[in-house]
Amino acid sequence: MTVRPAPVRLCRVADDDGRERAEQLDAADALAGFRERFEFIDPALVYLDGNSLGRLPVTTAGRIATVVEQEWGDGLIRSWSAGWMDRPLHVGDRLGAALLGAGPGETVVCDSTTVNLFKVLSCAMDLRPDRRTVLASRGEFPTDRYIASQVAANHGGSVRWLGPLDPAATWPTEPVDAAELSMSLSDDTALLLLSVVDYRSAALADIAAITAVVHDVGALVIWDCSHAVGSVPLELRGAGADFAVGCSYKFVNGGPGAPAWIWAHPRHHHTMTTPIPGWMGHADVFAMTGDYVPGPGIRRFMSGTPSPVALAAVEAGVELVAEAGIGAVREKGMALTEYVMELADLWLRKHGVLVASPRDSRRRGAHVALRHPDAQELSRALIERGVIVDFRHPNGIRIGLSPLTTSFTDVHVGLTALRSLL
Ligand SMILES: *Cc1c(COP(=O)(O)O)cnc(C)c1O
Repeated sequence: MTVRPAPVRLCRVADDDGRERAEQLDAADALAGFRERFEFIDPALVYLDGNSLGRLPVTTAGRIATVVEQEWGDGLIRSWSAGWMDRPLHVGDRLGAALLGAGPGETVVCDSTTVNLFKVLSCAMDLRPDRRTVLASRGEFPTDRYIASQVAANHGGSVRWLGPLDPAATWPTEPVDAAELSMSLSDDTALLLLSVVDYRSAALADIAAITAVVHDVGALVIWDCSHAVGSVPLELRGAGADFAVGCSYKFVNGGPGAPAWIWAHPRHHHTMTTPIPGWMGHADVFAMTGDYVPGPGIRRFMSGTPSPVALAAVEAGVELVAEAGIGAVREKGMALTEYVMELADLWLRKHGVLVASPRDSRRRGAHVALRHPDAQELSRALIERGVIVDFRHPNGIRIGLSPLTTSFTDVHVGLTALRSLL
């Protein structure tokens, strides 16, 4: 399928180095004020990696201090009944409403994305006991591939891998197409696991279209939203998706190792199972007797004791994206990624740098992958010069554009540095 590039042209052909243009774009940026809501300890640092670890919100340290000093220090164990117990659901509701298009009681913040993938994939296999095939992409994030293989094996099945044989050498730069995907589906397909935004190319999947073709064969779909949540609006319930998981430390700015989240469509709430039946997901946590009885709805995906300290940081991050509005965040993400491509075409293409992300903004998340044979050395040299990017094997430089914290001037300075290295 061919898609014409979006018609938007942000950057007129530069007669000078175009720095003024970047400053104009910053001056017109409705979200520019949100930079003040984050810590910029080193004002000279150009941080183009907010899709790996988002910046620190100014409020986070104080929020954590309140939990530590008051709720833990003073409240001690009484704080479990004074709010801690339900905080994974409370923060989940806020995250779900602001970022996922979810209703209350559909999202829980817990564990890591890896563990949550294991839980929801196992659950989906249980919900399709007559089917043995898991469908997933060869180019999927490693932890997703490992979990898909293990869960398939645990259920006596196997993974059918989609995409090119060596996705490391040449990863697809366009999203998975629903019509093409449907040819890999069969009545043995239990589930499809797919990233909404590809972690390398930023290709953005059409959740509604893909969910529809997967449901046509009676299979379930699990969306990994790690690189999408907090950067693109997700209408999971509206799209009829089954399950979703995602990180909180990337575009949600919830901090390193922040607990991840799980969302499940309410139609599964009465039948879904968990392979980790911990006491925190029990119907009566303090009953302490008898066998495991799953808690109502999404709570059953909780396993063990949550961290109120970590949840406070997630909540602070969610609040900022909610306040900005995911629609405005999406618009700025598109503008920033377009600007990266514009400068890459103008300055870097003649030095052998190629854009390895979709050209159409509607089909791209909030980062851009550039390809160059010396990507690894170039990335290292950029980081030494205070421009933080991400190297992706074997030849990718990933430029992350976190809409609340990245400026157009950051992009300009960062790509100027890259140009000077070529
Ligand atoms: C970042 C990311 C993860 C990370 O999983 P953790 O359990 O938090 O380490 C998983 N999947 C995808 C697609 C990601 O982008």
